[in-house]
Amino acid sequence: MIRFRWEKLLLWVVLTTVVAMAVGQLAAWVGGYLRPVVVFALLVGCLLGGMLVVGIRLLDLAHRSSILVGLVLAGVICTGSEHWGAYRQAKREYERTLADWQAKTQGLVALSHQFAQALQQQLPRPPSSFAEYLASQLERGRPIGPWLLKGNWVWISWVLEAALVLLAAGGVVWPTLRWPYCSSCESWYRTIRQGRLLPADLAQWAELFQIPVFHPESARRFRAQFRLLQCLGQCSAGRLQLVWENPHGQLQRWEVKLDTLQREKLNTIWEEASDQAHSSDSTSASACFPNRSS
Ligand SMILES: [Zn+2]
Repeated sequence: MIRFRWEKLLLWVVLTTVVAMAVGQLAAWVGGYLRPVVVFALLVGCLLGGMLVVGIRLLDLAHRSSILVGLVLAGVICTGSEHWGAYRQAKREYERTLADWQAKTQGLVALSHQFAQALQQQLPRPPSSFAEYLASQLERGRPIGPWLLKGNWVWISWVLEAALVLLAAGGVVWPTLRWPYCSSCESWYRTIRQGRLLPADLAQWAELFQIPVFHPESARRFRAQFRLLQCLGQCSAGRLQLVWENPHGQLQRWEVKLDTLQREKLNTIWEEASDQAHSSDSTSASACFPNRSS
């Protein structure tokens, strides 16, 4: 049972707000150059999701409802921030055009102030506020790919884009919540040791932990890796994850929550292996430098 924590929710909301605003601004900047329909919103969502996963791990947050609140908030803020960024860009663009125009018509202003004023009125008016900028898109249309959307279609495109961002972010975040979590010390499990295994090692481990692995030696191209996980409070003996390739080339996964005895056995195996490595090191050293050892 994962407990709800107010302080974690608060930190999470602050973090999602900051991250979503930053991703939205970045999306607005990149979108000014290149903005493929649908794909762009999905990419923005993936980036947002990836950053939220980092936040979830940093805060050791596993409460599903809290995560969902932050996720939805992030999706909305990110889309809003992107629109805000686009509005700022449009404003800067207008100021540049105006400065350009003023530079070109400087001589004209000296000749006839009234004529210059009349010409200036021909320039499109800049959006005076964010709301006006959005309203102008509804009125004048919003270019999306090869189309120019107008009226309600603009609303639909905004909602759909926000939904795509949220969907992609959720698609990145949700599967990572399956990672083992310790509800006693309220922390995600961390990898404390990992490495590759030789066929002989896997055979030894298979016997020790009763892993359903068949003839690992018979695999022509042998690949096996282990990962030892432990929570921050070291409440248990840890979890052991194994991945190996069977003789048919398929990857097999196996995970166990270790008991104290199994963990001790594992530590013994590693101690023996490191002792052997040390002794072989010293043997080879003495073989290389016979004068020094005698
Ligand atoms: Zn723990």
